[in-house]
Amino acid sequence: MKCDIVVIGAGPAGLWAAKTAAEEGLEVVVLEEHAAVGLPKHCSGWLLGCEFTDKMFAGVKDALPHQKVTRMVIIDPLSGQVKEDVEDTGWGGYLVRRELFDRELAKLAVMAGAKLFLNVKAKELIKEDGRVVGVQTASDRLPEVRAKVTICADGMKSATNSGFAHREIASESESETYPGVKIELVNVREVTPGQIEIYECGDPALGSRSLWPHGWGITLASFSSIKAFSEVRSRRDNLLSRKLASSFPIYVGGFPNRKQMGYFYNHMVRDGVVFVGEACGCSGVIHGMITGSYATKVAKKVIEQGDMKIIDEYEKMLKNSDIYRNPFCYRNVRKNYGSYSVWLERSAEIRI
Ligand SMILES: Cc1cc2nc3c(=O)[nH]c(=O)nc-3n(C[C@H](O)[C@H](O)[C@H](O)COP(=O)(O)OP(=O)(O)OC[C@H]3O[C@@H](n4cnc5c(N)ncnc54)[C@H](O)[C@@H]3O)c2cc1C
Repeated sequence: MKCDIVVIGAGPAGLWAAKTAAEEGLEVVVLEEHAAVGLPKHCSGWLLGCEFTDKMFAGVKDALPHQKVTRMVIIDPLSGQVKEDVEDTGWGGYLVRRELFDRELAKLAVMAGAKLFLNVKAKELIKEDGRVVGVQTASDRLPEVRAKVTICADGMKSATNSGFAHREIASESESETYPGVKIELVNVREVTPGQIEIYECGDPALGSRSLWPHGWGITLASFSSIKAFSEVRSRRDNLLSRKLASSFPIYVGGFPNRKQMGYFYNHMVRDGVVFVGEACGCSGVIHGMITGSYATKVAKKVIEQGDMKIIDEYEKMLKNSDIYRNPFCYRNVRKNYGSYSVWLERSAEIRI
């Protein structure tokens, strides 16, 4: 098969690139290795508030269960003391079910004219004269897709040796990984839908844990394993355990390949391939989607002018952008921004 743009991966970054490119009249093919868009789910589903989110979300929110984020509270679970209470002062954002959100984006991409292939895993980049000219897949149905521009959006896998970024652009120091599970819980006590709770203390079992109450009885949380979750739930010496005491998981998704949050790779273009979203080291749904829109802008110019060198403009565009200056990195917030309120205010200012 031949097309203008082939996108590897149907996550938010790849799908937004595909949607915007198809709207520009380009022929786009998206390859997704899983049998469903949005699964397995590994994400709390907090769409960070900014101008881009407002505009983009207007097009999907009627079709999607969502909860406006109203507050973020940072709590010491042992003393119960509130360390920081960040009320919404316009930073906003939404909690969404990521699997449903991704499917909405897939619908938009396909309705704009992109061709989406599920169960098709990109295996190798096809290189000719030192330049990538498409993708070889592991599928008999669609063994090869040739394209003028290849966009790599293979996401969370990117930092592992089975991901393309690891092979093409990542360095050792940039590909730190850590394991974990994302759990969808029912019946968490005393949480307020839309109010994100982050627990900070010296006890590693309790500190760095977060609750993301989506409403409809559902709260998301991350733990290093389901066993670690059960251990925290059985304790009685802290606020977090008491909140979890009567909860039960209804979904557990692994995120074995999560990179450290809060940075981008040094290079985001290699041999004509544009890396977007997690594949360029960039964390966060909204940040990833914005990288997808930058990739589209540059790819369109490359195709119209027939000049592959233009592709390098993507890296410049990204490095000069507000998302590059304000990475999605709530884990490193105090180190990088001093407080959560400062980070959120700066994030709200993100412009494309
Ligand atoms: C525990 C956890 C919680 C998080 N919470 C939040 C949050 O609340 N808010 C937020 O903004 N971000 C959050 N993130 C980060 C967010 O999930 C990512 O930044 C986002 O998913 C990146 O989007 P993406 O499109 O780059 O990649 P992904 O969403 O990872 O999508 C990549 C897609 O590519 C597919 N793929 C991979 N390899 C291939 C291949 N070879 N061939 C074909 N398809 C392939 C995958 O199956 C997948 O569908 C969280 C991450 C983790 C781990």
